[in-house]
Amino acid sequence: MKIAVLPGDGIGTEIVAEAVKVLNVLELPFEMETALVGGAAYEAHGHPLPDSTLNLARAADAILFGAVGDWKYDTLDRPLRPEQAILGLRKNLGLFANFRPAICYEELVGASSLKPELISGLDILIIRELTGDIYFGQPRGRRIATDGHFPGAEEAFDTMRYSRPEIERIAHVAFQAAQKRSKRVTSVDKANVLETFQFWKDVVTEVSKQYPDVALDHMYVDNAAMQLVKEPKRFDVVVTGNMFGDILSDEASMLTGSIGMLPSASLNSQNQGLYEPSHGSAPDIAGKNIANPLATILSAAMMLRFSLNQPQAADRIESAVKAVLASGVRTTDIWSQGTTKVSTREMGDAVVAAITKTITKG
Ligand code: NAD
Repeated sequence: MKIAVLPGDGIGTEIVAEAVKVLNVLELPFEMETALVGGAAYEAHGHPLPDSTLNLARAADAILFGAVGDWKYDTLDRPLRPEQAILGLRKNLGLFANFRPAICYEELVGASSLKPELISGLDILIIRELTGDIYFGQPRGRRIATDGHFPGAEEAFDTMRYSRPEIERIAHVAFQAAQKRSKRVTSVDKANVLETFQFWKDVVTEVSKQYPDVALDHMYVDNAAMQLVKEPKRFDVVVTGNMFGDILSDEASMLTGSIGMLPSASLNSQNQGLYEPSHGSAPDIAGKNIANPLATILSAAMMLRFSLNQPQAADRIESAVKAVLASGVRTTDIWSQGTTKVSTREMGDAVVAAITKTITKG
């Protein structure tokens, strides 16, 4: 089992180190190879996604990814910005289906900004299309001002587009995921205003006919954003486009207490996957040993389940995380009165200790 480890920038290196520590304690036959990506790769090789990193990712069964980006790269030409690395990996590997489970652990009910009764028992799966939409549309650009310079430009544009096959395949993923859960899918669109999303709605409706056991409803994205905080438990599987999914999944993460708790998996049609926390490189807390590594550790568990066919090892990690939270151990972002505040590394150590305990017992 070959894992490409791409820590990236900011807290990426800190949180991935903890996930690797957790994977190592499982004593499975992994081969892990690390490479630079994002700003770190730009500094070393002049490009955020060098060929060597892309080739390593292509050859791997799975990719464990941290995060990329830093404000200091904001003035670079767009193709050289760190964030292009993650877009490049998604596009080159065909990682079109992004799974973002938002699960509220009972122990963290108090860490959410919503009332406990609204989020206790919450278990939503947001499925975001990842390789289409406005993030990959053409044409894009800024109209050059009369003086020939971008800074004086009068207009900028990005084109939103989806093709039928792109919508069909993500719809199939959503309906099949729902069949393994409570058989409900909410498709989120903006069909009242955007042609692209009227088309999305039509195609999702057509695909739904192949899944008569799954109930489909449609919701406009503005309403979905509101319902997520008003009555989040009304949702089960949510399927949506790239941009709406980006925004809604960050919103859903706060229901669970912290963005530091939300893992994600991005899969292609061969089940090769990239696994990363839903958050970014958090430059504001980078290097302070205070970031929450649990989203990355839980992403490693998803990697074991989805791409490496090791469901028991995945269960072991997830149970260890639950046990650690139940013992009152918390990083700063999820800390509350009466619990024990720990660093990034101490949180990783606590998960390792909990796994070791189950291995010893078992
Ligand atoms: P962010 O997710 O990095 O941070 C948002 C807030 O959440 C910050 O206050 C941060 O401190 C906090 N936070 C994030 N992860 C945390 C964790 N594990 N533990 C505790 N707190 C955590 O988003 P941002 O600040 O908008 O972006 C920072 C950089 O990350 C930008 O350059 C952005 O482009 C990039 N980014 C990268 C990815 C990716 O690599 N996939 C995703 C989103 C943003």
